[in-house]
Amino acid sequence: YTGKTGSELLTEKIKAYKVYEFQHIPIVVKENVSVYDAISTMFLEDVGTLFVVDENACITGVLSRKDLLRASIGQQDLSAIPVHIIMTRMPNITVCRKEDLLIDVAQKLINNQIDGIPVVKDVESGLEVVGRITKTTITKVFVELIMDDHI
Ligand code: ADP
Repeated sequence: YTGKTGSELLTEKIKAYKVYEFQHIPIVVKENVSVYDAISTMFLEDVGTLFVVDENACITGVLSRKDLLRASIGQQDLSAIPVHIIMTRMPNITVCRKEDLLIDVAQKLINNQIDGIPVVKDVESGLEVVGRITKTTITKVFVELIMDDHI
């Protein structure tokens, strides 16, 4: 018997969660796809954040729902505007790595007021996108913790 309270055990358990245990498949588009096609991809893939990648699958930008809405307000032909014009671009992208603690990534989502963070792998040509952590990921973990009740 360790003498630890239920709450201490719960805290320890949460602080041990790593990104790789929870990450989902990232949905990516190339820099030259149009805003129109990015909107279609967002609907078809049922995600709120798209990651923009170069030919080596390395991250160059992020597209949120609001980024695409903002670009759609004008009268422009959306199929003529490439996403690299409107995306949030590197080096201003918040990323994480698979060995990071999930709680630290959750903290970044809150502090930076964003919905999703790409999981990246360091490669020669940049940061390859290998996964994603979103607010939905964190919400699921929260619910599973209560439902599983293993402590
Ligand atoms: P929405 O704009 O749909 O509410 P977000 O809150 O995720 O979605 O995005 C807010 C802004 O932050 C957008 O301009 C988006 O491009 C940018 N953004 C989203 N995710 C990231 C990220 N991981 N790193 C840097 N900027 C991001």
